[in-house]
Amino acid sequence: MPPKGRIEVKEIICKGCGLCVDACPQHVIILAEDRINAKGYHPAELSLDGCTGCGICAIICPEAAITVYRQVAPAKENQ
Ligand code: SF4
Ligand code: SF4
Repeated sequence: MPPKGRIEVKEIICKGCGLCVDACPQHVIILAEDRINAKGYHPAELSLDGCTGCGICAIICPEAAITVYRQVAPAKENQ
């Protein structure tokens, strides 16, 4: 099973540049065409399941608007 993750975008500082959309290897980020933020940009958002928590989007975002959460497998109990 591939690792699971999710992202949160601080919409207020996203400038809708689309770099994260292009960089995501899973193609799960879109620019929300149905709304604009206070700066007048369509903010990025997670559109589908499939985020692996790889962190590439957060690294590439020039505004540091993305926080990545990666699911960690529970540790196996000692027997
Ligand atoms: S963490 Fe990786 S897989 Fe998830 S949205 Fe960002 S670039 Fe895509
Ligand atoms: S790279 Fe950052 S600023 Fe650009 S669209 Fe994605 S979240 Fe917004």
